Amino acid sequence: MTFYADFTLPFIIGTVTLFAVIAFKYISWIKELPKQDLLLIAKGMFTHRTITAIWEVIRESLLHKRIFKVNPTLGYMHMSLAFGWFLLIAVGWIETVAYLGFKWVPLQGHVFFKYFVPLNGIEGHKPIFDFVMDALLLLVLSGVGLAWFKRMRSRALGMKRTTKHIPLDRIALTALWFIFPARLVAESITCSIYGGGSFLTGGIGTLLAKGIAIETLQVIYEPAWWFYSCALGLFFIAMPFSRYMHIFTEIPLIFLRHYKLRPEATEKSYDNFEVEACSRCGICIDPCQLQQQLGINDVQSVYFLRDRRYNMLQQKIANNCLMCGRCEQVCPVGINLNTLRLNSRISMRNIPHEKRYNYFRGIDRSQGSGKVGYFAGCMTLLTPNTLSAMQRIFDAAHEQVWWADKEGGVCCGRPLKLSGEGDSAQKMIDYNKALFQKHNISTLVTSCPICLKVFREEYQLEGIEILHHSEYILRLMNQGRLRIKYSSASTFTYHDPCELGRGNNIYDQPRAVIEAVGTLLEPAHNRKNALCCGSSVANTAIDDRQQLTIAKGVAEELDATGATTVVTACPLCKRAIARGSAKKVVDLSEIVAGNLR
Ligand code: SF4
Ligand code: SF4
Repeated sequence: MTFYADFTLPFIIGTVTLFAVIAFKYISWIKELPKQDLLLIAKGMFTHRTITAIWEVIRESLLHKRIFKVNPTLGYMHMSLAFGWFLLIAVGWIETVAYLGFKWVPLQGHVFFKYFVPLNGIEGHKPIFDFVMDALLLLVLSGVGLAWFKRMRSRALGMKRTTKHIPLDRIALTALWFIFPARLVAESITCSIYGGGSFLTGGIGTLLAKGIAIETLQVIYEPAWWFYSCALGLFFIAMPFSRYMHIFTEIPLIFLRHYKLRPEATEKSYDNFEVEACSRCGICIDPCQLQQQLGINDVQSVYFLRDRRYNMLQQKIANNCLMCGRCEQVCPVGINLNTLRLNSRISMRNIPHEKRYNYFRGIDRSQGSGKVGYFAGCMTLLTPNTLSAMQRIFDAAHEQVWWADKEGGVCCGRPLKLSGEGDSAQKMIDYNKALFQKHNISTLVTSCPICLKVFREEYQLEGIEILHHSEYILRLMNQGRLRIKYSSASTFTYHDPCELGRGNNIYDQPRAVIEAVGTLLEPAHNRKNALCCGSSVANTAIDDRQQLTIAKGVAEELDATGATTVVTACPLCKRAIARGSAKKVVDLSEIVAGNLR
């Protein structure tokens, strides 16, 4: 048997194109990786990491466990398409071997096996394969049905918005929608002429045989297989240039992550894997407050990644993001969205630093001395109540403190970095780092989560422990160095700052401090799902009025807890929420300083 018919040509051309483009892309991306990344791959390849990566591929690329967690219906839709299709290929291959033994069969022979070997009546007919293949086809068709339904009624599937497609996506999507219905039709017509099939293709085949003349069925038989082959071919040709490239790209990305590759502060070829692994599922759209509260619909991570992939990213899109991390939190592919956006900003905006910030020299205005250094941060310097509260706390704990920036200092560098000025930020980092080391401190405390993040991630302060004031205050309490008055009648609600919670994974410490003072009432969105205050320094695109709208939304939710006081642990959040809240808004340090025994 030759396993060739003219109708298989579109499928063959599509398959060759698909694998040629994918091989070209992956080889060139891997070749461009920096040497240390190539070393990481070589080191990890023959270790248990490869096994754990394979397991993750099964869990996430086939079963879509993370999407199931976020939205079970969407999870089922993705699983039925990916896992169902995979099983159709795998069982189809086993079926070929079961009938023909271990001999080479070209790819189209496996894919169009029902055409080449219309099974019924042949010697050794194995109806179990008919049943399993029909069941799998039904599984995939249920996923296609849900995908259709999602396009028309996204809300019914728990999504307020779905992604806007580009033309190539539409071509691939349309072809994908037709692949499995076309297969059903072609196989059912085959069954109507030759018999065979099970409850699905066999059942429809019997109905067709009863209702349509055999001559007519024979006329539409070949065109039906042509249509199926064309749908496959078209999908495969459009796939590597469309969102569906994610189907393949997610797999190498999982392996690379297990080998410890990560995106960095500057763009590198590894980013291509993250960018093209985005399935444009649109899950990141709904949590975005820019969308929810301001109706901005074209800047979310899905659009940022799409624009970056097709080299059409504009600064106004890259800059219009709070970097709150709410989308990263829910992204089922686990893409490092904030880092990718940040390095895009840097590559679009960075201005070399040679002539800038020379006034840093000799600026040391620090005060006092001690093993504990306190870096208030620019925003804390603008919230004097936090500063004086920290002073009272240090005094009560008899802590000898070196104040790094009491009379003003150099910014931690993160705001500049977030705006894309990486080199200037680095100059600030270098200055502050030298200052901390010169003063020989062993602990660095800050009241600003933005400073905390950059200290921990980029300062590399060997020998210096870095603490947010919530961690430091809790430690003093646990050591018995701070004694606090407790009153259950004092009610507080707590706003998790983005950079402290999602950014630094600090959720429990501020809560423990609050619960030592009074009763804590949680807002509707808290911890990993907490809302952003709207005044993030990361967004240089929205105006004051828009920031206020977001702040009011957050404040409303905090006020609705019925607590008398709103507490936060970030000077920026404090100022932002205070503009929108009817309640008293304070920093964590203030409720501690105000309730010292
Ligand atoms: S960034 Fe993540 S959540 Fe958003 S569309 Fe892409 S894969 Fe989905
Ligand atoms: S980081 Fe926040 S503001 Fe930016 S796109 Fe994601 S959810 Fe929206």
